[in-house]
Amino acid sequence: MRAVFFDRDNTLTIDEGYCYKVSDFAWMKGAEAALARLHAAQIPVFIVTNQGGIARGLFGEDDMIRFHDHLCDKAQEAGGHITDIAFCPHHPQSPDETMRSCACRKPEAGLFFALAAKWDIDLANSVMIGDRDSDVIAGKRAGCHAYLSDKNSVLDDLVKQIIETHFTTTPSAKV
Ligand SMILES: [Zn+2]
Repeated sequence: MRAVFFDRDNTLTIDEGYCYKVSDFAWMKGAEAALARLHAAQIPVFIVTNQGGIARGLFGEDDMIRFHDHLCDKAQEAGGHITDIAFCPHHPQSPDETMRSCACRKPEAGLFFALAAKWDIDLANSVMIGDRDSDVIAGKRAGCHAYLSDKNSVLDDLVKQIIETHFTTTPSAKV
C-alpha cells in the first residue's frame, strides 16, 4: 500500500517541549481537515515520532501511549484515521547508556522500515511530512517523497497538494 507518514510534534499536534499530557493535546492548524481528507481518499496514515523524553526519563512510555490513544480518538472524531504509530524512545543524552544510540531516531529511517515491514507499505510511492529537516532526511532515507511542513501554514493545504501530486496516478508512475 501507499501511505502518508506524519511527524507528530509541531506537524500534527502542537508541542511546546516534550508533550505527553493529554490535557496539553492540541491540533496544528489544518491537521484535522488534512486527516479527514486523507481518510476520504482512502490513503492510510501513519505517525513516526521521536520520543526521546522517554530515554531522558521525562515521561514514561505509558504516558506517551495514553497521549497516542487520545490522539487517535481525536483523529477519529475529526473524520480521520491513524493506522499505526511508530516511535523512537531513545536519546543521545540518556542517562541510560543502552538508550543512547539506535537506528530509529530520525533522521535515521528505522521507524519507516519497521512500519513498512509490518504493513507492507510501498515506501517509494509514499510520502513523509514533517516540520524538521530531520523528518525530510529520514523520509528520503526511507525512499519516500518528503515534504517540510510550515507551522504558520495550514497543513490541509499541503496535504491537498500532495494527494494531487502523488496519489492520483497509478503506483510507480513516476516522471
Ligand atoms: Zn531509536
